[in-house]
Amino acid sequence: MAENSYDVVVIGSGPGGYVAAIRGAQLGLNVACVEEEKLGGVCLNIGCIPTKALLTSAHLVAETKDAAKHGIQFGEVTYDLGPAQERSRAVADQLNKGVGHLFKKNKVTHVQGRGRLAGPGVVEVTDADGGTTTLNARNVIIATGSRPRSIPSFPIDEERIWSSTGALYQKKAPATLAIIGAGAIGMEFADVFEAYGTKVTIIEALDRVLPLEDAEVSKFMERAYKKRGMDIHTGAVVEGADVGKKGVTLTFKDREGAEHKLEVEAVLSAVGRVPNTEDLGLDTVGVATDERGFIQVDPHLRTNVEGIYAIGDCAGRQLLAHKASHEGIVAVETIAGVSHHTVDYGNIPNCTYCEPEVASVGFTEDQAREAGYDIEVGKFPWVGNGRALAGGHAEGFVKVIRDKQYSEILGAHIVGPHATELIGEFVIGRHLESTVEEIDHAIHPHPTLSEALAEGALAALGRPIHI
Ligand code: NAD
Repeated sequence: MAENSYDVVVIGSGPGGYVAAIRGAQLGLNVACVEEEKLGGVCLNIGCIPTKALLTSAHLVAETKDAAKHGIQFGEVTYDLGPAQERSRAVADQLNKGVGHLFKKNKVTHVQGRGRLAGPGVVEVTDADGGTTTLNARNVIIATGSRPRSIPSFPIDEERIWSSTGALYQKKAPATLAIIGAGAIGMEFADVFEAYGTKVTIIEALDRVLPLEDAEVSKFMERAYKKRGMDIHTGAVVEGADVGKKGVTLTFKDREGAEHKLEVEAVLSAVGRVPNTEDLGLDTVGVATDERGFIQVDPHLRTNVEGIYAIGDCAGRQLLAHKASHEGIVAVETIAGVSHHTVDYGNIPNCTYCEPEVASVGFTEDQAREAGYDIEVGKFPWVGNGRALAGGHAEGFVKVIRDKQYSEILGAHIVGPHATELIGEFVIGRHLESTVEEIDHAIHPHPTLSEALAEGALAALGRPIHI
């Protein structure tokens, strides 16, 4: 193949792009991956991974507060976000280097610079010094991701009004923090900063926290966070922010329409993300986007232009790393002609790594009813599980929604210990079209948290054993 000519050029090396590149190379394709920043994208460098490092630290902080119960007596204990923040950077750096090694091992060419479509089958890459390289591509996969949405009435400056990126680089927990938006980002950072001593106020426009989760899960989490001393305003909309030398005065309207002013040291704006699809040369070749800028794709991730694919956040739907990786595999396997499978968007798990953890897959109870299913709902509380009690974390529940006709698992919702690890069982169950009876028939080891999943399945049949 001529120099700078590839079977596939992937633009972006997040969990969508780098996975697509490696899978393409495994299939014998000659692949280049263009990245203007660090390999691994948002997820690995300023998203999923460093936040999970911080959340692990926050979890340990919370555990120390309970240490006396285990016979551990500390002298005076102090909590300092600084070292935890440094550790989170080290974890991200280690993984970032790991992607570089995987590229070498799989013979993926890493091209450093900003890629843009310069014509059919042509990607132009501009490096940091302004130099350009032209790559010829039989196929292009656009995997450019998304960035935090900045709202004009409280624009992100990363000094006083942070995005998730600014929040990740704080070495000191502020005395007070307002978090706008109670989606995954808002709820995860609330956990981290509260653990390190910040007085956190959450303001959410919709009528509950984690509004995409089952309503009972949202209710549980709101109560759990309030018990920790956080202030939560739902149905409340932030209208403006005055940034001063010492902090920010936020103006927001509560659900009754009354106006409030809140003085805080800093603000985290966690109000969603927008796709990185500008200045990519999409118009040059005529790639269609929707009204919000997300690239439109078919079930095989093909755009309207032959040979151009889009995956991950820039292609819309759920903005989740695991969805991006799967789309990457589907796209590149379609290019290689080895597979015709598609992504099952109805069976993508949602995970929020706050304390307690929240995870779900499939329909919420309200969605199942709205879809017209005749359902039975089972709820098994963690207090009925020996391992959870022994581990000292028995708050929350496993909720299973089954369709009465075929006993299909319509939805599963876990709030409690290791929820994000445990949800995988229901993902596989739904993938294999298992019934709730089959979840119970599969023998779960004792004593484990996993037993509560089988109990949740039994609860959906009206016959849990341990409650
Ligand atoms: P989100 O869309 O999930 O939540 C944003 C929230 O902000 C919404 O609930 C919205 O009602 C609220 N909001 C918007 N404008 C507001 C205003 N003016 N005042 C008050 N509230 C307002 O977005 P996010 O939490 O920023 O996360 C972005 C994306 O990244 C999401 O798709 C999320 O799933 C993904 N993400 C996932 C994880 C995870 O899986 N653990 C972690 C981080 C981010």
